[in-house]
Amino acid sequence: MPLRILAACLIAVPLRAAERDVHSFATPDDVRVRHVDLDITTDFDARQIRGTATLGVELRVAGKPLVLDTRGLTVDAVEASTDGTAFAKAPFELGKPDPILGQALTIQLPKAARAVRIKYATGPNATALQWLSPAQTAGKKHPLLFTQSEAIDARSWVPLQDTPGVRITYTAHVRTPKDLLAVMSARNDPDQKRTGDYRFEMTQPIPSYLMALCVGDLEFRRLGPRTGVYAEPAVVDKAAREFSDLEEFLKACEKLYGPYRWGRYDVLVMPPSFPFGGMENPRLTFASPTTIAGDKSLVSVLAHELAHSWSGNLVSNATWRDFWLNEGFTVYLERRILEAVYGKARADAEAVLGRRSLERELAELPKPDQVLHIDLKGRSPDAGLTDVPYEKGALFLKHLEAVYGRERFDEFLKGYFAHFAFQSITTDQFAKYLEEHLLQGDPEKAAKANVREWLNGPGLPPDAPNPTAPALTKVEDQAKAFAAGTVKAADLPGKTWSAHGWVHFLTSVPPDLGKDKLAALDAAFGVTKSGNSEVLFQWLLLAVRNGYEPAHDRLEQFLTEQGRRKFLQPLYQELVKTPAGKERALAIYKKARPTYHPASVETVDGIVGWKEAK
Ligand SMILES: [Zn+2]
Repeated sequence: MPLRILAACLIAVPLRAAERDVHSFATPDDVRVRHVDLDITTDFDARQIRGTATLGVELRVAGKPLVLDTRGLTVDAVEASTDGTAFAKAPFELGKPDPILGQALTIQLPKAARAVRIKYATGPNATALQWLSPAQTAGKKHPLLFTQSEAIDARSWVPLQDTPGVRITYTAHVRTPKDLLAVMSARNDPDQKRTGDYRFEMTQPIPSYLMALCVGDLEFRRLGPRTGVYAEPAVVDKAAREFSDLEEFLKACEKLYGPYRWGRYDVLVMPPSFPFGGMENPRLTFASPTTIAGDKSLVSVLAHELAHSWSGNLVSNATWRDFWLNEGFTVYLERRILEAVYGKARADAEAVLGRRSLERELAELPKPDQVLHIDLKGRSPDAGLTDVPYEKGALFLKHLEAVYGRERFDEFLKGYFAHFAFQSITTDQFAKYLEEHLLQGDPEKAAKANVREWLNGPGLPPDAPNPTAPALTKVEDQAKAFAAGTVKAADLPGKTWSAHGWVHFLTSVPPDLGKDKLAALDAAFGVTKSGNSEVLFQWLLLAVRNGYEPAHDRLEQFLTEQGRRKFLQPLYQELVKTPAGKERALAIYKKARPTYHPASVETVDGIVGWKEAK
């Protein structure tokens, strides 16, 4: 279907008030969970979390059962209570397993039920959990456990209504080995002593995907009055230096979008296998150590995760097809923070790299997946994890800023965060609020804003913002000249380029640059030895594409020493394109697979065809 007709059809679809989350069995309109009390033991020998989850429930339709999401959980007993103290057995049933959703846990409730207690244990392949042996940590002495609940993996360690449309408060009593520290996406005490017995409280209602726990040999360093960093002892000081601007980020974001509503803001630096750049667990962002470059060039990830304290955590997507409400807003806010703290040139450079990355991805994506308000029926929410919700979402907001002016748009955003604070909303709710608080009254500007096409059309509208950064434009010219052979590698000003400059250079040269040119670049600048994960990643992609052998060892090292999916996925995809590359991919993956997080394993299994290779 031609693009224009598709857009027109979509415009005609009427708005609906509420939308069912296709990634959850829960029926919160019948019975809604409001609060969770966890009482759990982390058993490192059995690699199992077990204990009880007591759920405070609100009955909305009489006689309806409570339906929860689970994946791989063993349910030992279920009890219900009408007064919150005396519990009696309640009939329950685990449904047929679904490969994407897991299993529904359906519980029959007594009339006037107020609480339900589930005694359970996690399964051996719990998708949210990674149990690291001491050898897999930086310190090599103690094991470590961490959770990653987004998008729909909270259900693999806690039985709950695992949909972002349901918000809960929680408490947790967590037992661990005595010499380890536990931290959660809740109130953490910076002076907490190691006791093996920890209590947490999260008093603000959050969606289940923001429940998080880490247990390990962790130390804390204060960065500012409200900010600090946790990490393994070997990493914590390096992390504290790299993230020393965190308090400034926090102040910059507050100044723009209203008060930070969560108390403390700390960052936990994860082991290298952490599958994401960062995870915005409230009060305690989890961050990949690949964000530590030594020169703060990759701290945009921290600005991003902090910005989620407004966009995502305070105002959350109600379903995973509204994911762009979390990520597009956050990329926009992230660059506003960077602009406020480091200046416009830095923010513009990041925006240029973002738009180029989006363009490369759009060229490969099927049309329906280029849409912000994406249809994910029958697919995992991971299918929507592309640059579209992030970069296209941010461009949409940048476009609105251009149409209405920065001052008016900032005011609008501030009002939006205050209006929907601690709520989960759909794209339709956003569109309605936008109409009422920004578009109404000026049809000419509203036509320019072109909201329907931005939300429901594929690709980018012709008047989408196209950011520029003079320093990067120069780099682009130099890349062209180098590729054409008019400038030699040794004559390039590569030593003066920032990490962004290098990323831009490596993504601006033609993909089939040729081994000789790569060798010349390597001789002049030692790119294979780069310690900047983003630069190295782009370099290794080129190395694989061009069969540049001197980078082989470094590629293997990079694929085995960290497990960030953003890096793994494209590199393995590139490797398997040739028979020899596929062989190498399998040989490397065989070694690396046991060290990767389940989320990365699932992705790479599919790329290398792991099952048939076993
Ligand atoms: Zn994000």
